[in-house]
Amino acid sequence: AQPLLEVEDLHVSFDVRGGEVQAVRGVNMVINKGEVVGIVGESGCGKSVTAQTLMRLIPSPPSRVKKGSIRFAGEDVLKKSEKEMQQLRGGRMGMIFQDPMTSLNPTMTVGRQITENLIRHRNMSMKEAHKRGVEMLNLVGIPLAETRMKQYPHEFSGGMRQRVMIAIALACDPELLIADEPTTALDVTIQAQILEVMKELRSRLNTSIMLITHDLGIVADVCDKVIVMYAGQVAETGTVHEIFTNPKHPYTQGLLESIPRLDDDKSQPLVPIPGTPPDLIKPPTGCAFAARCKYTMDICTRVDPGLFECSSTQSARCWLNHEMAKEVHA
Ligand code: SF4
Ligand code: MG
Repeated sequence: AQPLLEVEDLHVSFDVRGGEVQAVRGVNMVINKGEVVGIVGESGCGKSVTAQTLMRLIPSPPSRVKKGSIRFAGEDVLKKSEKEMQQLRGGRMGMIFQDPMTSLNPTMTVGRQITENLIRHRNMSMKEAHKRGVEMLNLVGIPLAETRMKQYPHEFSGGMRQRVMIAIALACDPELLIADEPTTALDVTIQAQILEVMKELRSRLNTSIMLITHDLGIVADVCDKVIVMYAGQVAETGTVHEIFTNPKHPYTQGLLESIPRLDDDKSQPLVPIPGTPPDLIKPPTGCAFAARCKYTMDICTRVDPGLFECSSTQSARCWLNHEMAKEVHA
């Protein structure tokens, strides 16, 4: 497998009145070419901040990368100029957000937004770009695409706007697509269509996809690998099979238990686990999940377990996976 995105020991903080929120605390991840990786976790776990940092979209200040590195296709993302980043974004790196209004320009027709991107990133002529734009709107299920090209974002319904944004993100055939809750606001049928488009893109172009979601049904459906985040750290990572059949972190187990009947119903949102995540202005010294965990041992509140390798593809940040602790616990 060839790595496309490599994140190493990433630390991102932002300043608030009460101090420094350590939103991302030492995250490592690799996304290989053609791989679909799901990032799951409750809101505030650092998944969106991580994604925005990869695209260098976090506002700085108040945010800043304190430590770590991000490599995309072998190049250091954190060392790129804003101009170089603009060249990457919308071109080799595509992105889809939950709220399309944050990425669509309200003063430009949808057609112009698609064609400008294609002309800039793919050197297309106006005519080629227009043809491709119409094709993309058709692909994401927008009827009357020729007419729709001439309309402004406000003339589209919420679901249609979401599809427009997806069409724009996919038009340039990105090598990496970062999708942050891409289908959360859509109804189930459209959601399924969009996920089909993403799967298609992967099989046709070997696109790598980072899919941020709180919907484990979607993860099971489209992802190869899962990264579970908690309190700014990776709590567990593994293949979809490992995570769904043999989760090693109590938090992952809790997430899975909170979806009723996974086999029949693939669109259930997560029911939150009792308790709240720790305050990241003062993260706990031990395991970040200790206050909510039903297996908490003495060592848990004192020492961070670190990621423990359970297989060549699965690791979990939990003392229960250490042989020694297992004996203590038994
Ligand atoms: Fe629970 Fe301890 Fe594992 Fe943390 S390290 S998840 S507190 S058992
Ligand atoms: Mg988010």
